[in-house]
Amino acid sequence: MTVDKRARIMLIYTGGTIGMIENQETHALEPFNFEHLIENVPKLKMLNFEIINYQIGDPIDSSSMKPQNWQTIARVIENEYDNVDGFVLLHGTDTMAYTASALSFMLENLDKPVIITGSQLPIGEVRTDGEENLITALQIAAARNRQGKHIIREVAILFDNYLWRGNRSTKHSADNFNAFQSNNYPELARIGLGIQFNKDSIWNGEPNGKLKVHPEMDNNVMFLDLFPGMNEKVVRHTLNTPDIKGIVMKSFGSGNGPDDAWFIEELKKAVARGIVIVNITQCSNGCVLPERYRNGLELTQAGVTAGHDLTAEAAITKLMHLFGEGYSSEEVKKRMEIPICGEMSCYDGSILLTGN
Ligand code: ASP
Repeated sequence: MTVDKRARIMLIYTGGTIGMIENQETHALEPFNFEHLIENVPKLKMLNFEIINYQIGDPIDSSSMKPQNWQTIARVIENEYDNVDGFVLLHGTDTMAYTASALSFMLENLDKPVIITGSQLPIGEVRTDGEENLITALQIAAARNRQGKHIIREVAILFDNYLWRGNRSTKHSADNFNAFQSNNYPELARIGLGIQFNKDSIWNGEPNGKLKVHPEMDNNVMFLDLFPGMNEKVVRHTLNTPDIKGIVMKSFGSGNGPDDAWFIEELKKAVARGIVIVNITQCSNGCVLPERYRNGLELTQAGVTAGHDLTAEAAITKLMHLFGEGYSSEEVKKRMEIPICGEMSCYDGSILLTGN
């Protein structure tokens, strides 16, 4: 890897712990402005990059993130795309994996790095992980191979020792510095003394034209998390939520659910009303293979769609994206099973298809 010394990187700040300071009265962490953040990292000057700072509105705790914020980020990337080598997005960790997934679907033909990072401790604290994360993210955004091509050409999350594909990542720890995991896809890079890129897992597809932003997200979607002893009325009520278009159903093991007649019947009725129900597993690792057990097969026969090994974050944002594009239920159902940008590995008979 070579790091382009004159790299021009856009640093987009949305908020999150990395830029927070403690409120003197309540002692709660609150978002603060960008100057405070940059002031605390004098080492940035040593990188010798041209860093263009951009703060998106008032910084927010990422638990307040909304599709409108994703749209703004995507538009900033679109507007500056030809002027910079790459982007680093500073974001809270709580919903970082949702933003990474959403952006991956919004940014078609992305051919430059979009590296999302943040920290578990504010950047002003002595033991902060924010400084290292920020500097490594900038170096990755500037990294090129011997042919001068960007090494990372996708939306990725850099956290502590790893670079993960954004739409494969999940926040798994509320207090470890290594806060993210990608349970169904290997790391894009391992950070140690050096940055070891994993050639086999980084996106190597060629763009099919210029960057195209798909900003529309339809939020008429939700999760249905299965558990033993679910209440019939509650489930019926949920599936009959007005205007609902898509549901990500978190099922047991390899895609199983209860075989109670009322449950199967409610699913069938919901599918008949045009609701797309996507089956993903509650397990942190593995794939939905709904035909493996009779209980899973009954879900498929009721019209439920296999979400294969999608993360919950990728599944819900993919539904928002596809409905946002205006596709019919039938089309959304079909497209949920086809990878768009490396978010899933499809088990299709004996062939393992990936979006890579
Ligand atoms: N609540 C914070 C946020 O997501 C947590 C963090 O940044 O780590 O904005």
